[in-house]
Amino acid sequence: MLTNSFSVNEKGHLTLGGADTVELAKEYGTPLYVFDENDIRNNCRQFKDAFSKYYGGNARVYYASKAFSCKEMYRIVKDEGICTDVVSGGELYTALAAGFLAEKIGFHGNNKTPDELKYALQNKVGRIIVDNMTELYLLNEIAKEMNTHQDILFRIKPGIDCHTHEYIQTGQIDCKFGFALENGEAYEAVKAVANMQNLSLAGIHCHIGSQIFETVPFIDAADIMVSFAKTISEELGVTVSEINFGGGFGIKYTLEDKPVSKDESIKILCGAVKEACQKYAFPHPTLCIEPGRSIVGASSLTLYTVGSIKEIKGIRNYVAVDGGMSDNPRYALYQAEYEAVVANKADKPRDFIATIAGKCCESGDLIQEHTQIQQVQQGDILAVLATGAYNYSMASNYNRIPRPAAVMVKDGNSRVIINRETYEDLVKKDV
Ligand SMILES: *Cc1c(COP(=O)(O)O)cnc(C)c1O
Repeated sequence: MLTNSFSVNEKGHLTLGGADTVELAKEYGTPLYVFDENDIRNNCRQFKDAFSKYYGGNARVYYASKAFSCKEMYRIVKDEGICTDVVSGGELYTALAAGFLAEKIGFHGNNKTPDELKYALQNKVGRIIVDNMTELYLLNEIAKEMNTHQDILFRIKPGIDCHTHEYIQTGQIDCKFGFALENGEAYEAVKAVANMQNLSLAGIHCHIGSQIFETVPFIDAADIMVSFAKTISEELGVTVSEINFGGGFGIKYTLEDKPVSKDESIKILCGAVKEACQKYAFPHPTLCIEPGRSIVGASSLTLYTVGSIKEIKGIRNYVAVDGGMSDNPRYALYQAEYEAVVANKADKPRDFIATIAGKCCESGDLIQEHTQIQQVQQGDILAVLATGAYNYSMASNYNRIPRPAAVMVKDGNSRVIINRETYEDLVKKDV
């Protein structure tokens, strides 16, 4: 199985966090997102503990909440004593509504609106990660008008691109996020902020990609970021006390995936930062990371009820479910890989090759192609595993399909954390 949260019980049913997923489907209906709370909490602790072990604890972990944003999720990570990132006024609103302390929130985005910036300043968020010059001047103006002060980080493009399968280090200037290093943009931004009364540069930030399985990119990023911190402290007299390396730690979506453990990832990052600090004679900064997927993605699943099945001889077997790209657009977007299991036949061999199709009016509405599942019939419960990150948060009402409910499981007990949308919800904003 993908993580220890998954198992198969004596009935041959798939379980998550000790709960029988077939029973969950019966109780709450399908489609249904299910998360294992113990695993989410463990993931937060593993990152925190690793920083204590390898960096003396001078570090902060921000949950990148775009992976899965809802009030209960913010409550859980808050309870674990970690910080959170938001990338919109809506995520900020949700975090605050859940009681998240504003000072523990970092606000990201490449085009925050004036209203979003005002909202963040009013609530005194801990950090705003400034993406570009336009935003820098705008934020300073707004802070001046509001007679307030804000700590910021600069989002840097370190010239490392891990979004492709192979790690490449090139001039990755063609990216909509952040200030480039190689053309002096980042340096100019530091110069500009030094003269701004209402903003202080607390540190610098980078985010090199997602679902990263290698460690070399983080080592390279550490060198590049510390080197830049040294340059601006020496040449511009600006103190960088904090370096944030973003998220991107890979998880196991398929049985073939081999992610680096959290402990190992943090050990390598801390080692690389310390080494770079020695190389450039720079004091150890506060280290920050922003894991999203690796907090919430792995020990989770989506449950569907199987409907029509079309076995097209010599071509493929379509197995249609009662959801689709409306609750999981990741295959349609970028051919994301998943494991699927017939939850009520989880003890049987996966000897049927299926293309799992959704119910939306798009031929591309597929959740997985040519994937191995058990022999399947109409009425079976199909589980797609590791859907906790970037599924609910990317869900839509395409075809006016209501968004599914989400359930949190803990030690075999379950509770709803997001209610299923109703048809009335769908027309609420219509006039
Ligand atoms: C998306 C994102 C993250 C989280 O990425 P994961 O791959 O989910 O860990 C962190 N920081 C920034 C700036 C991001 O854009």
